[in-house]
Amino acid sequence: MTVHFHKAAIVGVGLIGSSLARVLRARGMADEITGAARSEKTRGAAVALGVVDRAFENPADAVADADIVFVCTPVGAIAQTVADFMPALKSGVIVTDVGSVKAEIVAQTAPVVRPDVRFVPAHPVAGTEKSGPENGFVELFEGRWCILTPTEKTDASAVETVRAVWEAAGMKVEEMSPERHDRVMALMSHLPHLIAYTIVGTADDMEKDTGADVIKYAAGGFRDFTRIAGSDPVMWRDIFLNNTDAVLDCLQRFCEDLTVLQKAIRRRDGRTLQDWFTRTRRIRREVIDARQDQPENEKLLLKDKKK
Ligand code: NAP
Repeated sequence: MTVHFHKAAIVGVGLIGSSLARVLRARGMADEITGAARSEKTRGAAVALGVVDRAFENPADAVADADIVFVCTPVGAIAQTVADFMPALKSGVIVTDVGSVKAEIVAQTAPVVRPDVRFVPAHPVAGTEKSGPENGFVELFEGRWCILTPTEKTDASAVETVRAVWEAAGMKVEEMSPERHDRVMALMSHLPHLIAYTIVGTADDMEKDTGADVIKYAAGGFRDFTRIAGSDPVMWRDIFLNNTDAVLDCLQRFCEDLTVLQKAIRRRDGRTLQDWFTRTRRIRREVIDARQDQPENEKLLLKDKKK
């Protein structure tokens, strides 16, 4: 299915919003792309980079007369932003989001979306630890998953249109319930980020407490943790505040498993440790086979090398 819009609006032209705008441009999917951002700096950059044709401070000005609106603000601001620009929308418009948490967004937007507006909750599972329009790029979504979480009230043709947009961006699109999405993401994305935030904080504390040069010798695994722990603080604060139950459930299980390994180390139980690490090595191979092993930045580097 090919889609074309007279006007597409992107509310929040940061990393994700600007990458999506680049896709719409590159594929010729919109006659006009408008954007909205709070700061003059972001708006200026988005226009200067040619990502959007016009940028507005007030999202209502960006969405007026649009056929489709992509809400790409942090999770904690999505529902309020949608509520604020709702009166400015034309009838029949599609509004979709990119938030990393779904159940809360579905619950919070339900009471504010007009009956003649078609809301499609979505999450393109692709990103980097960077923020802002200058860090966006058109290949960001290529080969990654996009999860749509329609409810029984979601308009089916709007879902197909949103699916077509993300497929045009090179994504593999799947549908699931918002609750399932949040459970999967809690384990695959949110818990790993929490671990990275924790371990880097622990290293910093240890360095201060013991005077050991922990961070100076950062290498291998720890360096990867610092990259993840360098992710946007506001975005991740909002994710943990809006996916609380699923994250706490995963964390509980993680702590139980950590205790098993702690006990094995204390008891010098090599069998348990080796079995565990053998299992995880097998999983690593499966991830490589599924081609989910290359972070977006590395994929780009590989692409550059091939040119
Ligand atoms: P970003 O680069 O920081 O961009 C956020 C955009 O939203 C900016 O245009 C910002 O404007 C605007 N904004 C920030 N706070 C706002 C508020 N309170 N009200 C209205 N606008 C606000 O963030 P991003 O990485 O693109 O993330 C955007 C969304 O994508 C989030 O919902 C996130 O969960 C989701 N997501 C992110 C990733 C990822 O890895 N980054 C992956 C998938 C999905 P100013 O710059 O002017 O403040």
